[in-house]
Amino acid sequence: MSTTYELGEGNSPHDHEFPFVSFEEIVVATHNFSEECMIGQGGFGKVYKGVLGSQEVAIKRLSSDSHQGTKEFRNEVILIAKLQHRNLVRLLGCCDEGDEKLLIYEYLPNKSLDATLFDNARKSLLDWTTRFKIIKGVARGLMYLHQDSRLTIIHRDIKAGNVLLDAEMRPKIADFGMARIFGDDQQNANTQRVVGTYGYMAPEYAMEGIFSTKSDVYSFGVLLLEVATGTRRSTMGFPSLIVYSWNMWREGKTEQLADSSVMETCSPDEVLLCIHVALLCVQDNPEDRPLMSSVVSILENGSTSLPAPSCPAYFTRRNTETEELFRDDIQNSANSVTLTEIEGR
Ligand code: ATP
Repeated sequence: MSTTYELGEGNSPHDHEFPFVSFEEIVVATHNFSEECMIGQGGFGKVYKGVLGSQEVAIKRLSSDSHQGTKEFRNEVILIAKLQHRNLVRLLGCCDEGDEKLLIYEYLPNKSLDATLFDNARKSLLDWTTRFKIIKGVARGLMYLHQDSRLTIIHRDIKAGNVLLDAEMRPKIADFGMARIFGDDQQNANTQRVVGTYGYMAPEYAMEGIFSTKSDVYSFGVLLLEVATGTRRSTMGFPSLIVYSWNMWREGKTEQLADSSVMETCSPDEVLLCIHVALLCVQDNPEDRPLMSSVVSILENGSTSLPAPSCPAYFTRRNTETEELFRDDIQNSANSVTLTEIEGR
């Protein structure tokens, strides 16, 4: 990562490649973390807008009581510092003084994708052409993480809330706190601590803690369905957006799934393609899901010979009662499974 010492005077870099910014500079930049400067709140702390040097930045301040946060902080700094792609949010620096741990990012003025997609006043910013570009951008960012960077990185929390939009509505994947790096020949890993967002998690990850590039592909599929349909995955009750979409696809009514607010502007072929790709991504068997490189190629070049997506059997067979059991099972698991479900902004 190139150095960005223009961030301000008095940086005391702990290593020669990465700018550490002093806590005092951040206090000044955020008017002592004033309410007016606060632009968001996530699982690990508040996010503030500030100006460092002449640059607008977003500053994530980890809450000091979050033990999880310290680990995620180091993970995120080390990881993102090594990554550069136009569809990944850019980390400009950080601060680590005593209990204070802060991450400094490029400021992205158009909020997160979910804050735009599911907000009636902002939704109109997302016509079909823009949505299709966003989908392809996220796919390229994810392909870079999985296949094109020097490392194989599993994000583990791909969701509309973790896609931020720049001034031109270009998407940037954010929030690498949960990400894991794989060695060259490693295909998957198992964790005792499942983290991520309910509804975006692949079944093998939610139930067995197994994650791989294919669990990210599953989450991308859910995100793709949300963007094309304009429907939150949870609006119709978990996880029926997948089941509903698959049924519509099987009945040949896929075009009716398109978000009504883009019906006028959308290309039916592109909507069909997106929903078909999404249904391939959310298949129960990880091996049946495409790699992100295939997803990018299909979205960019189209395809006339896509396989039929398999029926989402895992979720279809469950009724409400078993769904309750499923939830209880996860929350009381000896695996100390944790789940984050963030709704509405
Ligand atoms: P969680 O951490 O639980 O996954 P989250 O992804 O919403 O939740 P954060 O990444 O901390 O949490 O972000 C909270 C909000 O702050 C975002 O939804 C967005 O509105 C705002 N935000 C975060 N980063 C930036 C940025 N670089 N530019 C502009 N706004 C940002």
